[in-house]
Amino acid sequence: MDKHSKDIERQPGFFTIDVEDYYHIIGVSGTPPVKSWDNIPSRVDKGLRALFELLDRHQTKATLFFLGYVARRHPELVREALSLGHELASHGMYHREVRLQEQDEFYLDATESKKLLEDIGGVEVIGWRSAGFSINRSTPWFFEKLIEAGYKYDSSIVPNRMSHNSLLNAEPTPFPIHTDNGKILEFPIGVADLPGSKISMFGGGYLRFFPKGLIKQMAEATLAKRPLLIYIHPRELDPRHPRIEMNALRKLKSYINMSSVPDKLDTLLNLTDYTTLGAYYARYGN
Ligand SMILES: [Zn+2]
Repeated sequence: MDKHSKDIERQPGFFTIDVEDYYHIIGVSGTPPVKSWDNIPSRVDKGLRALFELLDRHQTKATLFFLGYVARRHPELVREALSLGHELASHGMYHREVRLQEQDEFYLDATESKKLLEDIGGVEVIGWRSAGFSINRSTPWFFEKLIEAGYKYDSSIVPNRMSHNSLLNAEPTPFPIHTDNGKILEFPIGVADLPGSKISMFGGGYLRFFPKGLIKQMAEATLAKRPLLIYIHPRELDPRHPRIEMNALRKLKSYINMSSVPDKLDTLLNLTDYTTLGAYYARYGN
């Protein structure tokens, strides 16, 4: 709308999508076991196509962290995403939390999903996001293994999470992480700066919870200083998807205000120019 008429220089936005189905939610009582997934009706295409339309309206390219399982079940969605100019990245094979894996299991998951996505898409995959942002002190090998598996960047750090901050003293802006295996670029999840604290506001349940006016104001303040990273899931654009069994608090967080999502995303997409994490890496990664 008015993004090109702004008289101030703004940082870019990153629009990221975790491409998983509604039944892949983790850490709740109702998550079905992997062996039953093939028998559960899939709806990931509905929300993903709604996101494709939204992005097309804004002439914006996104980074899509595909679950390997979803890519294998819907290779046509991988090819469609690439034909629309979006970036293909990995969200692991089966949405398993990193902190629940041994390093060898994690390495296999990271390599298997990378190869699968590359075989389907015919492009190189260099980006990774962990299921549920699930790295912590029990996964000190995480970045080394990711580099060993061939990844060039990661986007799993939430800079206001105690467990992530104690790990890395994580900054809210893209930063390199140095390991014995070399260097990897981290794209932290977007947070809003409030006096004395950083608040998650630009993705998932937080985006649905906070009012649009506040989100816009905080996004503008962020963009004056650093890139803004948004994350979203296809199910959030598919309000009629079946509900998974979970406790009342988590239910509130998972399903609140879903109808507000398209309008909030429109607002955020109007604030600046967006680029993919891969394109940003190509330009500034070294
Ligand atoms: Zn996920």
